[in-house]
Formats: sequence, structure tokens, C-alpha cells
Amino acid sequence: MTEERRLNFGGKWTYAPALESATVPIAPRYELFIDGKFVPPKGGGYFASINPATEEPLTEIARAESADLDAAVAAARRAFEPWSKMPGRERGKYLFRIARLIQEKSRELAVIETLDGGKPIKESRDFDLPQAAAHFFYYAGWADKLDYAFPGRRAKPLGVCGQIIPWNFPLLMAAWKLAPALACGNTCVLKPAETSSISALHLAQILQEAELPEGVVNILTGPAETGRALVEHAGIDKIAFTGSTEVGKQIAHTVAPTNKKLTLELGGKAAHLIFEDAPIDQAIEGIVAGIFFNQGHVCCAGSRLLVQESILPAVLAKLRDRIATLRVGDPMDKNTDLGAIHSRPQLDKIRELVGGAVEEGAELIQPSCSLPGRGYWFPPTLLNGVTATHRVAREEIFGPVLSVMTFRTPGEAIERANNTPYGLSAGIWSDKGSKVFDLVSKLRAGVVWANTYNKFDPASPFGGYKESGFGREGGVHGLLSYVKLE
Ligand code: NAP
Ligand code: MG
Repeated sequence: MTEERRLNFGGKWTYAPALESATVPIAPRYELFIDGKFVPPKGGGYFASINPATEEPLTEIARAESADLDAAVAAARRAFEPWSKMPGRERGKYLFRIARLIQEKSRELAVIETLDGGKPIKESRDFDLPQAAAHFFYYAGWADKLDYAFPGRRAKPLGVCGQIIPWNFPLLMAAWKLAPALACGNTCVLKPAETSSISALHLAQILQEAELPEGVVNILTGPAETGRALVEHAGIDKIAFTGSTEVGKQIAHTVAPTNKKLTLELGGKAAHLIFEDAPIDQAIEGIVAGIFFNQGHVCCAGSRLLVQESILPAVLAKLRDRIATLRVGDPMDKNTDLGAIHSRPQLDKIRELVGGAVEEGAELIQPSCSLPGRGYWFPPTLLNGVTATHRVAREEIFGPVLSVMTFRTPGEAIERANNTPYGLSAGIWSDKGSKVFDLVSKLRAGVVWANTYNKFDPASPFGGYKESGFGREGGVHGLLSYVKLE
């Protein structure tokens, strides 16, 4: 760590305890990132960010007030003209630089992600960080090729984009939002989730190191109120929101009477279908990865398992055995499979939905595992005998809990899979290609994985049907969310 980096955040650095590396800095305090500089909030307020695996505070983070929001939007507006007029190949160079810096710092960023969010270090290291860099690399490549993305049309940037992200993949969601917006020539005001803002502020430091022009990206930390004020701000041209369907609906309502453009990436309740002709052992691995990845804090988590009736006993027995081998505990241990639940309210919600399912008649299957005394934990859980009317089958649980249901025929599988207000993702396990193709065309879900699950690539669009939102992130489609075509 250089002296210059210490100065950027100011104050005395603390080091995360018991880490393999003492080079992981968590500053004692984080400021707002406005107009290329770290600045204290005008109202002087700070809030704590804690480690959910220990309940210990990690640092304190600036709380943005409306005067800070005005300053951030004004900075983004000033930056818009030079940034949008800059040749695409020049903008692309900044994005490539950011991507490379993320790669260089991926070790420390992965540790921050795990300490602040509770996710296993092997996931931060092998998924969140490589994917975040990949998104910047991918959109860096589009910056000077927009004419080829939209042949015969002129793609113009929208202006100042307000971007609001959730806590489950903090740095990756920042990358999903910023990279395409910047490639298209927009400027941004990004609001991270209150409980997981640290990595976004380290990203801000990377933007400084990449010498991104001042004001092109501004990062405002704060509670839901900060997000609401951003949505309402008259100086914003577009809102891109990833989060819950409930908040997404409120935002759609606020934006409706304005000229602001809007894209929403919301919740999900994915059906994961397993047919009697599936390669069962492979399918079990896919099903386990589909629901226990990131403790189930995944919008596209395969939380409803639909099993063809004839293979239910075999599938249940194998799942029961497999979840008993999952290691739950210290997210910083590289062998951990399930880390901490992200927050107390999320843990309460998981407990409430599981409790309700048992009262409604579902069978609870949990391996005996010892959970740490402090922190927020929930064991890997199966709920057998769930029916479509159970609350746990209808509401997003966002936790390590798989609801198991059955079907007899492919037609019944489709009907049950589509029986949800959500439509983000789905999964199919079957040996028959023709059956898979037929099902894919009938599943009302934005992404359908076949004989795999949770596979991501920046070139591949991601987004929802129905109450899972509208607009796509990733791929050429992701550019469309940030341009007007003339
Ligand atoms: P959330 O409560 O909707 O919050 C998302 C973000 O919006 C946070 O930054 C939050 O700030 C902010 N916010 C809260 N209320 C707001 C309001 N009224 N106006 C503007 N902003 C507001 O969701 P979450 O609990 O953080 O995230 C989990 C949800 O995100 C799940 O439903 C999940 O499915 C969804 N998700 C979807 C995708 C996708 O691509 N479709 C990806 C990941 C997650 P605070 O943190 O300060 O409250
Ligand atoms: Mg935290």
C-alpha cells in the first residue's frame, strides 16, 4: 500500500483481523466520492458497516444528504459533455484501465467483499472479482463500436444516470451498472446498498488511479432515503435499479410522470426442473450450486425445485446426503461453502418463511451442523412437500432454502414453473435435447439454463419477465439500456 493510497481515505488504517494477508485495508472511515474526490458529507452523518460473520463494526461510512446529491448530480452534468464527446476509443481506454486495476487489486477486493458481506472467500475470489473485471473488459470493447452494435442508427448517450444497487454482489452489480453506461458516454451517480458499500468506495479509488475524468462517476453512500432522493432528483436522465420488486414498483411509480428512462432488475423465484431422464448426480450438483451459492442471496437462485414424481425418492436422498457435506462457517476460510447470512433482517425473513412452511405442512430437512456463536447463520435447508399455495413457494426467500415440489408431465412442469409473479430465471435437467428446447420456449423466464445453472458471461444478456423487471444487462442488449437510438 502506498502513502498516496493512505491519503486518499485519510485517517488511520485498520487491518482486518486474522487475515492471511495484512495488506487488506479497511479504512476507519469512508467519505463520499463526488467530482473525483473523497469528500465528507455536508450533514456530517456516518453509519457503521458490520461484518455479518462476527457482528463487529468494520468501519463507518458517510451518509449522503440532499446537498451532497445536488453536488454529485451537478458534477456528473458538468462531466457529461466532454465525456460523451470523447471518441469512443478514448473512453474505452479508461474502461480497460479500470478492468486491469480491478484484476490487480482483486485479492484485497475479494477480502473486502467477504468481510463486509459474509460471502465465502472462494466465491468472492473466483466469481465476483473475475466477473466484475470481465464486465469492464467487455464493455471497454464496445465503446468504439456502437455503430456496429446498432447498424444504420446513431446511438446517443442518455445523460446523467442514477444507479442503485443491492447488497448481494456489491462490486459486481456496480460493474454491471457502470461499465455499459460509461461505454455509451453517460455519466453516473451510483448508490450502493447501505450494508455493503466498502468495495464501491475502493472502486472509486481505482477510478482515481485510472484518472477517469472528474465527475464521470460519483458514489453516494447512504440509506434507502438516499436512493429515493436520487430517483426523485430533477437532474437525472435515467434510473437503473437492481433490488427488490417492492422497491422497484415504488420507483416505477415515481418515475412514471417524468421523462426519466428506467430499467429494473428485480426479484426472482426460479423453478429448477429435474426430469426422470436427467443425469441425476450432475443435476444434484447443479441444484446445490443453484440454491446455496452466496447463501441463496441470489436473484436468480433456483429456490423452487420441481422434481418428476418417479425420481423424487432418489433425488431427495441424494440431496439430503449432499447438503450434509456443505461446510458452513467462517467466510474467510477458503474451504467454506456457505458463509454468513448478510444481515439480521434477512436472517429474520428466512426464519419466518421457513417457520411458516413447516406450519403449513412442509417437511424440514437440515443436516446437523454446528454454527458459530456470533454472527448471522442459517444451515442449508430442504423443505419437502411444499405446495404452490405455501408462502415459501410464492415469495422470494433469498436464503439457503430449497423448496421441493413435484410434477408428473412436462406440461404440468411448465404450468407449475410459470405459476409465479416473477420471471427472472429457470433451470432444466434432462437428457433429451428436443424436450429442453421445447421447455425453454414455454418457460416465462429471462434466462433459462439447461443442464447447468448460475453460469454468467458479460456477453450474455440478463434480465426479467413479469415482476422481475424490464431491460437487460450484459451483451449488446445491455448497451440498449444506456442509449437513445436516432
Ligand atoms: P432493496 O431493499 O430493494 O434495495 C436495493 C437498493 O435500493 C439498495 O441500495 C437500497 O438502499 C435502495 N433502496 C431501498 N429503498 C429504496 C427506495 N424507496 N428508493 C430508492 N432506493 C431504495 O433490495 P435488497 O434487499 O438490497 O436486495 C435484494 C433484492 O434485490 C432481491 O429482491 C433480489 O432478487 C434483488 N436482486 C435482483 C437482481 C437482478 O439482477 N434482477 C440482482 C441482485 C439482486 P439500502 O441498502 O440503503 O436500503
Ligand atoms: Mg457489512
